Amino acid sequence: MRIAMLSYHTCPLATLGGKEAGGMNVYVRELVRSLGERGIGVDVFTRSQDEHIPHVLHDLGYGNRVVHVPSGPEHPLGKRELPNWITDYVRWITKFSESKGVHYDVIHSHYWLSGEAALLLREEWGTPFIQMFHTLGEMKNQVARSPGEKASPARLESERRLLGEADKIIASTEAELAQFRWLYHQDTDKVEIIEPGVDISRFYPIPADEAREFVGVTDERRIILFVGRIEPLKGLDSLLNAVAMLHRERQHNLHLMVIGGEPDADPDEITAEMSRLKELTDELGLNGQVTFLGRRDQDVLQYYYSAAEIVVMPSHYESFGLVALEAMACGTPVIASETGGLVYLVKDGETGLHVPTAAPEALAEKVRYLLDNDNELRRLGVQAAKHARGFEWGGVADRVIEVYEELAGNRAREGVVRSAGQPR
Ligand code: UDP
Repeated sequence: MRIAMLSYHTCPLATLGGKEAGGMNVYVRELVRSLGERGIGVDVFTRSQDEHIPHVLHDLGYGNRVVHVPSGPEHPLGKRELPNWITDYVRWITKFSESKGVHYDVIHSHYWLSGEAALLLREEWGTPFIQMFHTLGEMKNQVARSPGEKASPARLESERRLLGEADKIIASTEAELAQFRWLYHQDTDKVEIIEPGVDISRFYPIPADEAREFVGVTDERRIILFVGRIEPLKGLDSLLNAVAMLHRERQHNLHLMVIGGEPDADPDEITAEMSRLKELTDELGLNGQVTFLGRRDQDVLQYYYSAAEIVVMPSHYESFGLVALEAMACGTPVIASETGGLVYLVKDGETGLHVPTAAPEALAEKVRYLLDNDNELRRLGVQAAKHARGFEWGGVADRVIEVYEELAGNRAREGVVRSAGQPR
């Protein structure tokens, strides 16, 4: 079986923690590796963003390819420009498959932009497609605090169309299925819920003293950690406000580490959200209590997760939140906003604690509670590590293969019926 995987706007090999590269990139990368281990060949097609990177790479192993499709200018484009190059992308992929003589059994598309390409490719090839949204425009609009954070009308319309048109939809948790119903008024039986995974050979508990030494903490400070793209919907301002409240109490010698983004970028390159957060840190008098570390390679993140006593995900919206799984796999409890997939991945009172979104007082209270209760912190950490072991990528790939087989099987059967019924 061969799969055409579409990740139009971002590459699974991209550096993580920047504005556009995060959970979805990890999802595609890990899924493709695990599919390869199970004998499923995948070509991942992504728009080329750098003419100096070879168009075909084999970095995901097992006979898989990452194909950088030259469609539009070969440099990063803004969200508004991206839709303009989808037809070129599709044209290039069809030529590629013809020239290589490759036939795909299923198309698997990620995010709405790839879904638009999948619609065109299905028309061309007659191949069924599976859609995953990763984030939903209507959800972004629910939590947007400024017009700039809102999803475009084109995106909303596309997501609605894709919900109706896709042959199958994979949702990452029950929350996403509920959002299809609630916000898109689509009740559909073609949704499979497959929770995301975590690589437990990479994310595992490291003894705290080793981990703290690695991350450069040699004193008694208690580490709270945030990891993620620096975006308004990650809710970091609530966490900074909560840290300020706790700092004023002077009860705990706490220190917040923030991983992600580029805090040291030149003034004309730094993102608006990063500047806003650095200003807020300054205003709150937290320069000694908060360190913006910038993005870190995933290979070292287990040290940070293990050095931290608590990982906080204060997001306003999160479709799944891989960071929560990674932290739990390292034996660190997670305080997570009660939103989207986090509600399902983090078990309140078992592997971490839930907290309302955008509520710094409530967040400060949960952090205080855990820092005051070592036994509870330990109990949640042990259970978190155990819980995360149930989320291996291999299990995700097995479930996804079942969906592929169902679709490919249906298509083969339809083909038989059609050719048997056709006049000679
Ligand atoms: N990540 C990373 N380095 C960073 C920041 C993030 O490797 O500096 C990775 C992190 O390990 C996780 C992903 O980026 O796998 C973020 O995924 P998540 O689902 O939490 O957030 P999303 O990006 O989907 O909003």
